[in-house]
Amino acid sequence: MKTIITGDRPTGKLHLGHYFGSLQNRVKMQYDYDTYILIADVQALTDNFNNPDKVRANVKELAMDYLAAGIDPNHSHIYIQSLIPEIAELTVYFSNLISVARLYRNPTTKHEMNQKKELFGEAGESITYGFLGYPVSQAADITALDGEIVPVGDDQLPHIEQTREVVRKFNNVYGETFKEPEAVLSKTPRIKGLDGNEKMSKSLNNCIYLSDDEETITKKVMSAVTDPNKIKKDDPANPDVCMVYYYHKLIDNNLETICSECKKGERGCVACKKELATALSEYLKTIREKRRYYEEHPEEVEKILNDGTEAARNRAKEVMKRVRKNMKLDYFE
Ligand code: ATP
Ligand code: MG
Repeated sequence: MKTIITGDRPTGKLHLGHYFGSLQNRVKMQYDYDTYILIADVQALTDNFNNPDKVRANVKELAMDYLAAGIDPNHSHIYIQSLIPEIAELTVYFSNLISVARLYRNPTTKHEMNQKKELFGEAGESITYGFLGYPVSQAADITALDGEIVPVGDDQLPHIEQTREVVRKFNNVYGETFKEPEAVLSKTPRIKGLDGNEKMSKSLNNCIYLSDDEETITKKVMSAVTDPNKIKKDDPANPDVCMVYYYHKLIDNNLETICSECKKGERGCVACKKELATALSEYLKTIREKRRYYEEHPEEVEKILNDGTEAARNRAKEVMKRVRKNMKLDYFE
């Protein structure tokens, strides 16, 4: 069985972007792959170092979202990054193999740096060593467990490419040690936000969360961006520029009717939004109900995390024996 390694940052609950971008794939693939799902608390701290309470609180939230969405602890290991010190060790070794200039060129890091001006300055002049280097730590996340397949959203492709470069360099310098991991994208590798932004993202506050109740979903959907040229209820409109139609498409809801009515001006946006809210709420119902079970059984969640972390740690220890041997650091073995 090949190994899947993937994960998320505990910076908030999971949203539709995570679900359609990667989580759905992981749920499907977990039966055919040895699956490890990382809660990346160390990475979350790179831009939340001053907010440890937020990171801590979201570790369990994330675990509950995984379980609710169908990650099966009998087939997947869910584990906590900071409890695998081997990852931190490997990050240090990897940091010699990549130039600072290369890290600056990573388009995802650049984009995120520009979004976080309050932390990193207008032109990124205050960017930290930790944030700039998080793709190196991510390379270690994947390789410390011999990860081969990485299901992710498309913002992660530059990071996986960097991981592959580090792996090649490592193998070149210290001898064949790691396989080059491969990213796996879903059919919808980047889900847009309610505001029409090209990425639904916790940091942008434009998300529908998997755990949102019907009332919250309705409120959010009412704020979604529609065709700006449609002024009156019976104006014809273009569904292709409408976020409401975009989400109808995502959950495959009544598309033919919606599309033709919208184009002919026979469908008001408010009614269309209400229909979407109801359909989305129905779509997420099973996830919400399963989540409630885990909210009421926190001890089960804790055990799953504990067991998953132990399994991941054992694996990382084995990999690091190989790494230290190849790097001539196996002093007393
Ligand atoms: P943050 O704003 O804190 O970075 P995020 O919403 O970007 O949060 P992450 O935890 O950084 O979420 O991302 C975890 C995984 O989910 C990654 O594989 C990422 O590619 C994927 N993902 C996140 N948002 C989307 C999206 N809108 N569409 C598709 N995939 C996404
Ligand atoms: Mg992100």
